[in-house]
Amino acid sequence: MFDLGARLTDPVDLSIGQPHFPVPDSVKEAAVRAIREDRNRYTVTQGIPALNEAVLDVIQRRTGQRPESSMVTAGVAGGLTLGFLALLDESDRALIPDPYFVCYRNLGALLGKEPVCYDTYPDFRVTEDRLEAGMREDVRLLLVNSPSNPTGHVLSVEELKICAAFARRHDLVIVTDEIYDAFAYDGPVPSILSYYDQVLFLGGFGKTYGMPGWRLGYAAGPDDVIERMRALQQVSFVCAPAPLQYAALTALEVDLKPYVDAYRQKRDRIYEGLKDVLDVVRPDGAFYLFPRVPGGLDADAFVERCIAKNLLVVPGMAFSHARTHFRVSFALDDAVLEKGVTLLRELAEEAASEAAQA
Ligand code: PMP
Repeated sequence: MFDLGARLTDPVDLSIGQPHFPVPDSVKEAAVRAIREDRNRYTVTQGIPALNEAVLDVIQRRTGQRPESSMVTAGVAGGLTLGFLALLDESDRALIPDPYFVCYRNLGALLGKEPVCYDTYPDFRVTEDRLEAGMREDVRLLLVNSPSNPTGHVLSVEELKICAAFARRHDLVIVTDEIYDAFAYDGPVPSILSYYDQVLFLGGFGKTYGMPGWRLGYAAGPDDVIERMRALQQVSFVCAPAPLQYAALTALEVDLKPYVDAYRQKRDRIYEGLKDVLDVVRPDGAFYLFPRVPGGLDADAFVERCIAKNLLVVPGMAFSHARTHFRVSFALDDAVLEKGVTLLRELAEEAASEAAQA
């Protein structure tokens, strides 16, 4: 699909998984300053102390809990890699949601046994039955992701308590990926940290401040887990990009409200614009919608039709065992968003009328 997309001229691109806004100027300036001030050598492997203190403060303000330890990672992907390495042996499995962010499945398979999934279709909620149905004897780790990529679902307190009770019953560590925690449109994002203690918390800077290319994230959790991850980072990534760690301190001072307000409007626009023609759950966070493919089409066939209209979306197979859904991003300029809504309405109406004739 990406190959096909690359051949299109000026496509309406709803496939993008990153914010559309640039890094705030104050943060760019801080990065330039850090480079000029020669902060370009390695930092200690866990990252600069000031940033570690700052991320623990952020987590404490949000969740009421202050994890024992933290470290700065090379993106959340770096945190996931080190976390899975520290927590899984080759004979262990992770239990991950379906739909899932693709790294969970690939990293899980690489560093343990092929992960098993808990199916969350069609409403993307976590229930006890759904978790139990996915459980296997060799599962050691439960992964939760809120707000979710690709569904935008934010786990409620009730769902988090179900996860905590399940993990307690089966003696599991929970890895929580909260990279989209800033993008919440209907109230704050509750965290599993408030309900369970064996938690590895992963957070990021890339999505929040429009800097995914800076490769900055953080991990926080029990001393022994973070200690193992630090030892692994020392012999792999070494440290996260040094000058950008200093700039991240400035990023934490940015007022995110205008960004989140703008994305809430985009969420409302795309959801309201599509809900009568597509089977779609209203996302309460992140910047994605994960609608069902209209007219009973296969996701591949639907994506080909989108491409024929110069529209790019991601087929659900990138995130799921199911071929029934597709992901659209609303991290877009309003003009692109409008074109996307118009094209998706046309495609949905065409597919529905074909299905009605068949
Ligand atoms: N987790 C989720 C849910 C994501 O969507 C992404 C990026 N698309 C990542 C982790 C990886 O983030 P980073 O770029 O900080 O490595």
